[in-house]
This record gives sequence, C-alpha cells and structure tokens, in this order.
Amino acid sequence: MGRLEGKRAIVTGAGSGIGRASARLFASEGAQVVAVDRNAAGVSETAELARKEGFEILALSADGGSENEVVDFIGKAVAHLGGLDVLFANAGISGGLVPLFEQTVEHWQEVLRVNLIGPFLAIKHGAPHMVKAGAGSIICTASVAGLRANAGGNPYSASKAGVISLVQTTAASLYGTGVRVNAICPGLIETGMTKPIFDGAKERGTEDKIGQLNPLRRPGQPHEIAAMALFLASDDASYVNGQAFPVDGGLSSS
Ligand code: NAD
Repeated sequence: MGRLEGKRAIVTGAGSGIGRASARLFASEGAQVVAVDRNAAGVSETAELARKEGFEILALSADGGSENEVVDFIGKAVAHLGGLDVLFANAGISGGLVPLFEQTVEHWQEVLRVNLIGPFLAIKHGAPHMVKAGAGSIICTASVAGLRANAGGNPYSASKAGVISLVQTTAASLYGTGVRVNAICPGLIETGMTKPIFDGAKERGTEDKIGQLNPLRRPGQPHEIAAMALFLASDDASYVNGQAFPVDGGLSSS
C-alpha cells in the first residue's frame, strides 16, 4: 500500500523540476493528483510521464500568482478530486541575480507575487477545504536562500524568508483545525530553474565544482526534495507542523 493511499493532492509548479518529481511520486504512492503550472506544455508532459508509469494525473494550466486563476484551479481540482488532503505550493521563479542598486520595484513585485503571494493564495483558497474536513497537509517550497544571504538575489531570498514566515504564521492561524503546514528549504537542485548555472559550468568545464559548498559535495536532484514532500504529505508526519526543513546536503549548517 502506498504512503499516500486515498489522499487527494494538488501540486503547483508541477510542469518541471521539483513539482514534476513530486506529482509523479505522490501518484506512485497512491494519491490522486492535480498538477498545476503556468507552463501548459510542461504540465501536460508531467501527466504524460505519469501515464507511462501507469498513473493518471489531471494537468491544469494557471498562474499561481493571480487570485482569479488560483480560485479557478482550486475549484476545478477539488471538484475533480472530491476534496483536498495535500496542497503542495511549490511554484516559484528565481528572478535571477541582479546587483542591488539595479533592482527595480517591478522586479521585486513579480518575484514576491509568484513566490510569496502565490503560496498565500493557494493556502487562502485551498486550506478551507481541509479545515472543513478537520485534516490536511500544506507544504510550501521555500529555499536555503530564505535562511542565508544570497547576494544579487535579494527579492528571491526575501520571498523565501517570507514563505518560512507564512508557514509559521499559517500554522498558528490554523490552530485547532487539524491542518498541518510546513516548508521545505532546498539547497542547489538540478532543475529548469538552475539550468543556466549547470549549462554555464559545462561551458566553462567547471561542472565538478557545482555543489562543492555543501558537505555532500554535489547538487541535489528533484526526487530528493520530492521525498521530503512525500514524508510531509503523509501521515508519517502527523505531528510535524509549523516547521521549515532544509534539504540541502548540509549547506545551511556548514
Ligand atoms: P523549475 O523552474 O524546474 O520549476 C518551477 C515551475 O514553476 C516551472 O514549471 C514554472 O513554469 C512554474 N511556475 C513559475 N511561475 C509560476 C506561476 N506564476 N504559476 C504557476 N507556475 C509557475 O524550478 P524548481 O527548482 O523545480 O522550482 C520549484 C521550487 O523550488 C521553486 O519555488 C523554487 O524557488 C524552489 N527552489 C529551487 C531550488 C533549486 O536549486 N532548483 C532551490 C531552492 C528552492
């Protein structure tokens, strides 16, 4: 029996990387999954990959930072699933590295809109279904960048520190409801978001230097974050609430 047997899950940012790996893992562990991404082709490909593995995933295309679209995808997902047990608010953008004095308000607003307001909206419109049922697990993807400085990535780090606070304050707000909420703080993971880093290193022939800052001396893979998401989504984590967990090869503690 799978670890998410009978659970109904939404995964955002599921058209690539960590979200895709998590949607496929959740489905393979028995969950009914709705995968959401603003990249329609990406999220369809996730569903196609799952189908080849023998699992049906419903793919929806939506912008997780737009309240109308969040209301729409949560409504469609809950109607399809018949309820909601797991909400993985994972969609995010890096915003790139821009020198501090060249950063614009528009740049900050877009990074905060997608990375911080997006998870807030998913919680605002998703959590009531869980509160009604008296149980549920919400997981947000933060970052080690929300725990430590990341020069040039100021809005990204601020958005991810905000996600950690969102998780803590949401756990407090959901006092007594039975709904848990936690964050994962990935280190450097090889995904679409970090492709420029990996491609650049390949071009320079410095590929073996990537990830050397953490004690495991390698970057992580999406399935290694999905494994933590699976744990937090499952009843194995039934007493885990209001926390942010680094999954970073030891980067944040070294
Ligand atoms: P990715 O680019 O491979 O996947 C992110 C997905 O989110 C993409 O498919 C993208 O289309 C989608 N997305 C972006 N904006 C969206 C929006 N407004 N609405 C809906 N979907 C949207 O990158 P990833 O590394 O898998 O990123 C997943 C999460 O992990 C992000 O929140 C990211 O900040 C976080 N993270 C990644 C790393 C890393 O090293 N890759 C490290 C720490 C945290």
